[in-house]
Amino acid sequence: MNSFEYAMPKRTADVFRALESSDSIIKAGGIDVLDLIKEGIAHPQRLVNINSIDELKYIEGNQTTGVKIGPGTTLAELASSEVLSGSYRALAQAAGSTATPQIRNSATLGGSLCQRPRCWYFRNKDYHCTRKGGFTCFAVNGENENHAIFENDFGCVMVHPSTTAVALIALGAKLTIASAKSSREILVEDFFVTPRENMHRENILEQGEIITAIHLPPAAKNMVSYYYKQKAKQSFDWPIAEVAVSMQLDGKKCQNPRVALGAAAPVPMRSKEAESALNNQEVTIDIAASVGKEAMKKATPLSQNKYKVHIFQAVIKRTVCWASDIDPFA
Ligand SMILES: Cc1cc2nc3c(=O)[nH]c(=O)nc-3n(C[C@H](O)[C@H](O)[C@H](O)COP(=O)(O)OP(=O)(O)OC[C@H]3O[C@@H](n4cnc5c(N)ncnc54)[C@H](O)[C@@H]3O)c2cc1C
Repeated sequence: MNSFEYAMPKRTADVFRALESSDSIIKAGGIDVLDLIKEGIAHPQRLVNINSIDELKYIEGNQTTGVKIGPGTTLAELASSEVLSGSYRALAQAAGSTATPQIRNSATLGGSLCQRPRCWYFRNKDYHCTRKGGFTCFAVNGENENHAIFENDFGCVMVHPSTTAVALIALGAKLTIASAKSSREILVEDFFVTPRENMHRENILEQGEIITAIHLPPAAKNMVSYYYKQKAKQSFDWPIAEVAVSMQLDGKKCQNPRVALGAAAPVPMRSKEAESALNNQEVTIDIAASVGKEAMKKATPLSQNKYKVHIFQAVIKRTVCWASDIDPFA
């Protein structure tokens, strides 16, 4: 590990100044960034700790106005937020299902969105994989049981690790991204970058830019949402398959569904196939099962992860049922 400067700005404006040097990295809760430094993947000259900036920690608004969330809000705060208990509950469920209570008390929403992949080859300093500038994705012909079943034909088959992103995409959320010079808004679903677009990064942030706010749009009439994940170790783990659904329910009739999948591809992704199979349907267990099957029709599993296709089918079926207040096991 190299030695580095440690900056503790008290205001967002000071963060931008501290990030002017190209070797600066932000630390929020520090769960991922400290691992990256210890694993020899990140070599910052300056670590900018934004954890004591109060103006980045808030949850404001309601279902009628929409909700604005500061990136420094912890996953524990999201999980227990009253504001997120109604139409937006997928986000609270996603945050509450992440890691362990200790981690959720430190980890932030901004950090959850910007964490780096957990592929074991990427995290091991002995493997100079494509994402680190090498020429081989060792997972393609190696241990790939946790890897992508979509978008896995372009030199890196990792899955994006962010659970909160899956819920935010299902909820149609946007981000404000700002630097010393400018500010822009972008949908969460457009924030992430596939290996085809750029092999060496996971999102569109440029040097000096940070996420300054996360926005949930006003909830549409009768909007419901739900998030569910299957892990290898149910107590705490990254997901094998995770799904978030939002939709308007008129009785049991579904309209404007959004179905997002995590641990499926190098980016958290929407399943247009699932959405078209669900739209305008009266939700039943059979319809929910057929939505799961449609979502997986274009999957291209690797040598060791065909099992994920079946798990996704079941997780999608359950999530659609639970969002509609139907018992999938009835
Ligand atoms: C055992 C275990 C299980 C886990 N399970 C899950 C899981 O199921 N799902 C899941 O999603 N995660 C999981 N995690 C990962 C954990 O949730 C993330 O590491 C954590 O959310 C990162 O948040 P942080 O605030 O600690 O970020 P940090 O580690 O401080 O930062 C992470 C990255 O985000 C950048 N960053 C932070 N804030 C901002 C900002 N506002 N703008 C721009 N960049 C920013 C940092 O520069 C860094 O690159 C697990 C971790 C462990 C150890």
